[in-house]
Amino acid sequence: MQITEIYKSLQGESTYAGLPCVFVRLTGCNLRCTWCDSEYTFFGGRKLSMEEVLNEVLQLSPGGGLVEITGGEPMLQERELVPLMQRLLEHGYTVLLETSGERPLERVPPAVVKIVDVKCPDSGEGDTFRRENLEVLNHRDEIKFVLSSRIDYEFAREFVARHKLGEKVNAVLFSPAFRKEASGARNSSHCLLDPQELAEWMIADNVPARLSLQLHKFIWDPAMKGV
Ligand code: SF4
Repeated sequence: MQITEIYKSLQGESTYAGLPCVFVRLTGCNLRCTWCDSEYTFFGGRKLSMEEVLNEVLQLSPGGGLVEITGGEPMLQERELVPLMQRLLEHGYTVLLETSGERPLERVPPAVVKIVDVKCPDSGEGDTFRRENLEVLNHRDEIKFVLSSRIDYEFAREFVARHKLGEKVNAVLFSPAFRKEASGARNSSHCLLDPQELAEWMIADNVPARLSLQLHKFIWDPAMKGV
């Protein structure tokens, strides 16, 4: 498998936020979101076997715990990734899979927690969500909308209502996008959509979603990688 990095930090953006977590970040993505903060994953990386990835995870977190598979778009390497996720589950890890929602998800082991993006219009990748994926989501899974404008918010609000997402998944996350060149100050001035404004819209509309901030960008310098 082509891997950009494997490291241990705190989970940053889901209902697992704040928990220690090993991240396995796979190389490559077929989308190009305007605010992408992971462009360094598009190329390069190192080729590792499944056993080598597993051994690195075991060394970083020998007693089990959380492992997040992310990217890039990890499901582009589905053939090797599905057996890796199975092995991690067998070792007792709670496995999270962060995916853009554009790839088919039927082959993901049911015990894996899928955290699935639905790309909004101002991401530049709207309309990439694979509708069939709604059928494979379960009550462990989470759906995330990264928002950079009122247009994105209204799209997300309507999508949640139309597909009754509040009843389908464990959590619906509304997350303000960060400026991709953000660095220095660790505060919400880097958000493309002010969290306070988003909070007020969510309260007014009583949406069945939770506001989610990218925790790691408020703990470490937003430009820092490997955290
Ligand atoms: S799907 Fe993720 S990694 Fe790919 S371009 Fe969008 S934000 Fe970046």
